[in-house]
Amino acid sequence: KESIMDGVNYNAEMPSENPDDSIAKTAFHKLQEERKTLPIYPYREQLLQAVQTHQVIVIVGETGSGKTTQIPQYLHEAGYTKRGQVGCTQPRRVAAMSVAARVSQEMGVKLGHEVGYSIRFEDCTSEKTIMKYMTDGMLLREFLSEPDLASYSVIMVDEAHERTLSTDILFGLVKDISCFRKDLKLLISSATLDALKFSDYFDSAPIFTIPGRRYPVEIHYTTAPEADYIDAAIVTVLQIHVTQPPGDILVFLTGQEEIETVDEILKHRTRGLGTKIAELIICPIYANLPTELQAKIFEPTPEGARKVVLATNIAETSLTIDGIKYVVDPGFCKIKSFNPRTGMESLLVNPISRASAMQRAGRSGRTGPGKCFRLYTAYNFQNDLDENTVPEIQRTNLANVVLTLKSLGINDLVNFDFMDPPPSEALLKALEQLYALNALNSRGELTKTGRRMAEFPLDPMLSKMIVASEKYKCSEEVISIASMLSVGNSIFYRPKDKQVHADNARMNFHTGNVGDHIALLNVYNSWKETNYSTQWCYENYIQVRSMKRGRDIRDQLEGLLERVEIEPTSNLSDLDAVKKAITSGFFHHSAKLQKTGAYKTVKNPQTVYIHPSSGLAEVLPRWVIYHELVLTTKEYMRQVTELKPEWLIEIAPHFYQLKDVEDAATKKLPRGKGMAAD
Ligand code: ADP
Ligand code: MG
Repeated sequence: KESIMDGVNYNAEMPSENPDDSIAKTAFHKLQEERKTLPIYPYREQLLQAVQTHQVIVIVGETGSGKTTQIPQYLHEAGYTKRGQVGCTQPRRVAAMSVAARVSQEMGVKLGHEVGYSIRFEDCTSEKTIMKYMTDGMLLREFLSEPDLASYSVIMVDEAHERTLSTDILFGLVKDISCFRKDLKLLISSATLDALKFSDYFDSAPIFTIPGRRYPVEIHYTTAPEADYIDAAIVTVLQIHVTQPPGDILVFLTGQEEIETVDEILKHRTRGLGTKIAELIICPIYANLPTELQAKIFEPTPEGARKVVLATNIAETSLTIDGIKYVVDPGFCKIKSFNPRTGMESLLVNPISRASAMQRAGRSGRTGPGKCFRLYTAYNFQNDLDENTVPEIQRTNLANVVLTLKSLGINDLVNFDFMDPPPSEALLKALEQLYALNALNSRGELTKTGRRMAEFPLDPMLSKMIVASEKYKCSEEVISIASMLSVGNSIFYRPKDKQVHADNARMNFHTGNVGDHIALLNVYNSWKETNYSTQWCYENYIQVRSMKRGRDIRDQLEGLLERVEIEPTSNLSDLDAVKKAITSGFFHHSAKLQKTGAYKTVKNPQTVYIHPSSGLAEVLPRWVIYHELVLTTKEYMRQVTELKPEWLIEIAPHFYQLKDVEDAATKKLPRGKGMAAD
């Protein structure tokens, strides 16, 4: 067998039994040639030398230089996979999947064999896997079953600059194990220049810089602030398309909804442009986009056409799309923010940082001179944007990681080696929340409930709801609900021209004003009754893909139930039992109707509303429990179920007092006498 790169022998597995052998071979050779053109390639030997000499190195290189796809391959070629797996973490699911797919192609192996990926609820690896791309959250969970990461020879914490919560926690954990596992190599890679901070943290680890190729990028600002950045983005794309020389466009939007809106409007407006104007190919990319469609952004643009990629932050540094010449940057992204005082978390659209704006602009100058159109003023850029994005650990609910760390036996969280410590109120709030959920005892130690909760790769409130389902004998129903909630807001669809039909179909699942949680259960059970029929989904305006994902998640939760020894039991005739199990997890999220028609959250009073998509939006029950808050034009509760206030006292007596539910209590409950049957 010929060897394509010096000292490489992995291509023994090249597709040789393939009938299209020669085509496959040519494609394979072409990929090998492409690999050699990446900026990192000339530094291959030096890099391997550095890895051999040092246990920990920090690697810095522009987005697209080849860090994520090449370094694990170099390590494999140099023999590191003989001693264990090479693991590479990514902050985003899509990046882990897409990069693994690319690397498996470059190596001529089937995805899931030698090269695989692991993301929450989806494990695409096998016994054979020697190179594993995974989300940072998944590696964090692997510590639970393998605290010394014995099956790995190298861990590459990639996209370190993103500073996600899981990545920050991983820093502490891998730093710790590197002390007693001297054979474990640690690579911390980043697309930006905050490398010194990483190096300092890892005891002055050497910094390996991959010089990037960068072409000049012309920055254009708007002369006045834009009132509607969506509209401004659409107009800008069309202007580029009509007036600018060939080259693809990348637009940064904040989420799936925005991307779908822009996609639709662009399709509509380009239809009217006539045949004189080149074709505009629209490619969306966001976390929940089905895998088959994700690959589309990487397909080369046909001659004479222009591609416009509508992306979330994922295209900022995680994914590199070749051929981008124009970037449209509205200057916003969605970030999670957490108020440690109230314990409330929401996803908010926020201005980006200057560092992000720079990264975004850089995406246009990778293969030639580019242009970046910022939909804000130069004054805004200089004066209103923060220098850097605040690390997630400082603006998020920590209950989940605290539970994970406690399960790892790390009890002293205050002295944990954080790169940037979380605010102490946030840590305290997390401990309080876990205590209220009965996951920790009053000494802050993990309880049996807590141990069981930690088995589920879910937020503590969801895991608690599942663990509590044992008591209410409705674990079957509760895991269905948890799975449907985990799918996200993509179960129902509502085509513009059939909104009335879609809404009617949706309301069928709400018969009896059962609330959104039970409606989700009804959707799942009805689909199951049709033997998972696709036709049924079409007829009911339900996304079949989301349902299949829900079913996959459910299968896994079912397996985990067994692991924590909870019997599968069904209690469909008693919906109150199901609602009590939900309340056991979500009692923090209770709200009471006000005279104004708004709601007030019971603890830490705040005004909130039922989301218009809820089945209870017109019903307005007096007391509700909600899954999450989303802030759009108002602070909305999404996924809402009616609640009997006495449940709060029955289920969380340490959290609620009679006075919290007073008006109901005076009517229904004899004071001080506890629960009365309804
Ligand atoms: P870095 O991690 O330094 O940002 P990558 O290793 O991700 O760089 O990318 C190197 C090259 O591989 C880029 O030119 C990129 O376009 C290409 N590439 C990465 N993923 C894919 C994919 N899924 N499909 C096609 N090309 C890809
Ligand atoms: Mg990368």
